[in-house]
Amino acid sequence: MTHQARINTVVESLTKAPRNIAFPERNGQLQSVSEIFGQNVFSLKEMGKHLPKPVFRNFLNQLRGNLTLDKQTADAIAHAVKVWAIERGATHFTHWFQPMTDSTAEKHDSFLTLKSSFAGGFEEVTALETFSGSQLLQSEPDASSFPSGGMRTTFEARGYTVWDTKSPMFIQEGPHGTAILYIPSVFISYNGEALDEKSVLLRSSEVLNKAALDVLSLIEEYDEDHPRPKHMFTTLGTEQEYFLIDRGLYTLRPDLKITGRTLVGGLPPRHQQLEDHYFGKIPTRVLAAISECEYELAKLGVPIKTRHNEVAPAQFEVAPIFEEAMLAVDHNMLTMDVLHRIAHRHKLKVLFHEKPFRGVNGSGKHCNWSMSSDRGDNMLDPFAKPEENYRFLIFLVAVLKAVQDHGDLLRAGIASASNDHRLGAHEAPPGIISVFLGSQLNEVLNAIEEGRPVNYDATGTQLQDVRVKGTVLDLKVATLPAIARDLTDRNRTSPFAFTGNKFEFRAVGSKQSVSFPVSLLNSAIASTLQEVAAALRKQAGDKPVASKEDQLAVIREYIVKTKKIRFEGDNYSDEWLQEAAKRGLPNITKSPDAFKRLLEKHNADMLRNTGVFSEAELHSRFHILMEKYAKDVMIEAQTMYTLVVQQVLPAAYAYRSELADSASKLKDLGLDEPEVKLLKELTPVVSELQDKVRYLEEVANKMNALEDIEELAFFAADEVLPAMEATRVLADQLEKSVSDKLWPLPKYTELFLNI
Ligand code: ADP
Ligand code: MG
Repeated sequence: MTHQARINTVVESLTKAPRNIAFPERNGQLQSVSEIFGQNVFSLKEMGKHLPKPVFRNFLNQLRGNLTLDKQTADAIAHAVKVWAIERGATHFTHWFQPMTDSTAEKHDSFLTLKSSFAGGFEEVTALETFSGSQLLQSEPDASSFPSGGMRTTFEARGYTVWDTKSPMFIQEGPHGTAILYIPSVFISYNGEALDEKSVLLRSSEVLNKAALDVLSLIEEYDEDHPRPKHMFTTLGTEQEYFLIDRGLYTLRPDLKITGRTLVGGLPPRHQQLEDHYFGKIPTRVLAAISECEYELAKLGVPIKTRHNEVAPAQFEVAPIFEEAMLAVDHNMLTMDVLHRIAHRHKLKVLFHEKPFRGVNGSGKHCNWSMSSDRGDNMLDPFAKPEENYRFLIFLVAVLKAVQDHGDLLRAGIASASNDHRLGAHEAPPGIISVFLGSQLNEVLNAIEEGRPVNYDATGTQLQDVRVKGTVLDLKVATLPAIARDLTDRNRTSPFAFTGNKFEFRAVGSKQSVSFPVSLLNSAIASTLQEVAAALRKQAGDKPVASKEDQLAVIREYIVKTKKIRFEGDNYSDEWLQEAAKRGLPNITKSPDAFKRLLEKHNADMLRNTGVFSEAELHSRFHILMEKYAKDVMIEAQTMYTLVVQQVLPAAYAYRSELADSASKLKDLGLDEPEVKLLKELTPVVSELQDKVRYLEEVANKMNALEDIEELAFFAADEVLPAMEATRVLADQLEKSVSDKLWPLPKYTELFLNI
């Protein structure tokens, strides 16, 4: 009986011993993380060691200037990396890329080559390991089997993966002590259209770089002590939330296996209401798995810094030290991949879905975002000297303007069938995008707007200390204080919050690749920086560099322009829904509506003008996202149908039959039969569930007959999801009333056991 499988698996899950691995030692002592860190990465330092000096210098020059590699340099690097990788057991290499599927793709090629020579009329074949510059730079996977949204058809399947020289190569351990060389790559079509996430991110970083440098040149003067920055880049720290549950129990839940979330199941009496899980003691088996992951990730040069229990039971978070966005994105993909694989070894299952369990918190991936120059200056660090606060404020207002103008686009960047369950569920930011700045910064902006001194009492005492120390710049119009970084309070309800020296985009989904939302954010900010640059030029007139007064005038202009995007209150409250509507901020609750915003003129124009997306690429994105949404919902509907018909209803039938048997036996004995009352209560629920699940099937069939992609997605949202919901309510009712020993599916209480 299946329910027996459930009980046995629960018991097993509690008695499994944690897996132990031997951490490497040196001189009888465990090696430190810093020793292990990056040992599987062909970093610049390794390159320097393995390459002739002039070749290495060429490579660095080409890297800095964003030039393509010449053949000679590529050949030399290929040879060096081949030797390095083979020494470490590599048998294969792969161009590792990120198609538009939220995951990574790889095709392995062996280093094996055959060389033939002819001696005495006989062909002699020699086997060798080779790897050429052209193999390093580019390979040609069949592009027709990846989503392209109509940009590719099967008969013109050519697509290229090209080494992204900004991301270093690395090896991952393969089977039986072998290894595989990974070459981080972008994936483009024969005509150069982006078929992946990363090429778009690269482009958006480049426009942001140019726009930010231009703004800097208008507000800063350079000399020998203060050289002009040559490059600006996006910094990114991705806090990854996830659930870890016992693998045995997971295998008994087809809904989790197929869709990543539970389609039936109700809350146990005790879940997260005692608030005792967040930052609690990490359970033993879980900790064993996490620390093995961290060890593997350290070898790959992924700088994991933080691990802790999250709010929901069985929920955890891992956070890295921030890095350049391109690398941070690769490292987040690796983190997810390694967590997935290592959890397996520990008989655990990691869930990246945004809302695997109804009623407890879902998972997000907070994207901590800022901009830095190659001099190491963070543009969003307010703790800079007061006279540099202008720079901070200019970049700050540019971000505000970008989020205000393109909030709906940002919403589109995080939309998915799975994230919809999380957004607006009163535990995650709602579908309204707004910016939280904190009381102090808010007061500073208000003071500048109103042309009055900052009211220190309104902003906390530490700020007053700054004033007392006399570091405040008096501009007559407004007093510009040095803003202390740690004074910003936290607002967990905001989708986009300033957190000290960076913005935290909290609405991003845990499962998705962050490339797309970050690319959209980069593009929007690049575009408003261009706008701010124009305003500065206008204000400055003939002067090449805008004066402090000019800068302040532009800052004030933008503070006034961006008032409606700022919100300091509770984003979960009903008042905010009304207030946001009054301000004209869109509240986008379902994904298909969000995707349509991609093509709205103000967004499409911006993405085209910045050169981040071509018209064709944008339409293809739109198509892929809509289609994926519809497919995801369809898979869920079909899974739910099977689950209810094959497991939930039969459990109810079995229980009813038990009750009926017992009732008739009691009746034969001339005794009262209270089971009849229960039977009478249960029967209408069972029949209604039968009706609902039949209706779900009908709706799914109707959906299958649709062809237009937009129609499909809206039908999924408006017809299929409500039909699933109606089914679930009844199934959950049965879960509560059917005898526990007949229930085949592990319940939330069991999935949430501390293991
Ligand atoms: P919090 O606890 O407020 O979320 P943390 O200091 O723990 O803040 O940082 C969270 C994440 O933000 C970490 O991954 C961290 O590396 C990253 N981070 C910190 N500074 C920056 C920055 N300038 N740019 C991007 N990410 C950053
Ligand atoms: Mg955070």
